[in-house]
Amino acid sequence: LLQGCCSKPRFDKFCRRLIAALPQEDKRVKAPPFQYVKPQSLAEVFELLGEHGDDAQILAGGQSLMPTLHLRLSSPTVLIDINGLDELAGISIDDGQVTIGALTRLAEVLKSDIVNAHLATLSRAMPHVAHVAIRNRGTFGGSIAYADPAAELPACMLALDATLIVQSGQAKREIAASEFFLGLYETARTPGELLIGARIPIDPPNRVNSFLELSRRHGDFAVVGLAATANAVGDRLEDVRLAFFGCEDRAKLAGRAALAVSGKRADAPTIDAAIDALTEDLDPVANLLGNSATKRHLAAVLTRRALGELARGVGEATHA
Ligand code: FAD
Repeated sequence: LLQGCCSKPRFDKFCRRLIAALPQEDKRVKAPPFQYVKPQSLAEVFELLGEHGDDAQILAGGQSLMPTLHLRLSSPTVLIDINGLDELAGISIDDGQVTIGALTRLAEVLKSDIVNAHLATLSRAMPHVAHVAIRNRGTFGGSIAYADPAAELPACMLALDATLIVQSGQAKREIAASEFFLGLYETARTPGELLIGARIPIDPPNRVNSFLELSRRHGDFAVVGLAATANAVGDRLEDVRLAFFGCEDRAKLAGRAALAVSGKRADAPTIDAAIDALTEDLDPVANLLGNSATKRHLAAVLTRRALGELARGVGEATHA
């Protein structure tokens, strides 16, 4: 604002004064010192995680981690760069499930034929995830492990009933997405574990879906977003899953709203009932993008639009 209403020399002078007035610790815009290690094998990663525990952080695409280091929001003593481990990257399909490796770049997920053919919700979500440059470096696993409450991929994992796979040494754990996201940037992964990928059931032929996001600019984090899936059975919706993001401290399934519409035709009274039920599901947290009431209102708007879209999908499936 100031830059727009005063001359450049005055603006520069103001900035110099402002910086001079800051406490010493706020002037540092460089990451704190850390040790950097680039393991050549998964075994080495687990050894390092075991040795350093909470003091170590995995470096994947660095698109979230590096800004948090520079802003001094995080100060690991060791960064473990997993970028050399090609076995963690790639998308494959087997036995009705798509497996996406943690180190798969977001850009690869966006253009994947497998994802576009078999996971319609994820396919629709990908163009909303950040911008081209960030998608070229940022990884699928990094986005899920980071668990930003306004990120698209955690909500997609919930809507698609994905299983997340973590590993420590030889021990692998499979965690349902609904049990993985625990809170603000908090997941069920322990410090000794690496997220190695996700397994996602492919869309059944009667799947209908919607992906909607309200953000200030395309590619920004969501103000509020909704990934919705259901199966069309006759003229009814079954197995409805409504996963919200940008509302609470984590991506969240709205179970009561989904129940209000499951097994029914998504007509106007049913959609109204689902929106009423949403007040019990969601308790939106205010942030810089909106207060709680605004987010609640926007979540209701998106629910109405998404259920309308699912209903139209049912119509098309019925006529096919
Ligand atoms: P990193 O930054 O390397 O790591 C992030 C965190 O996850 C770190 O704590 C790291 O230790 C941990 N981690 C990474 N990989 C693993 C693993 N395999 N196992 C265990 N822990 C791991 N994201 C969105 O979803 N939507 C957006 O609209 C969006 N907009 C953005 C806009 C900008 C300007 C920027 C800079 C980022 C944006 N992002 C957005 C975030 C971006 O998608 C990140 O790249 C992504 O969330 C993190 O992926 P990464 O590979 O860069 O992870």
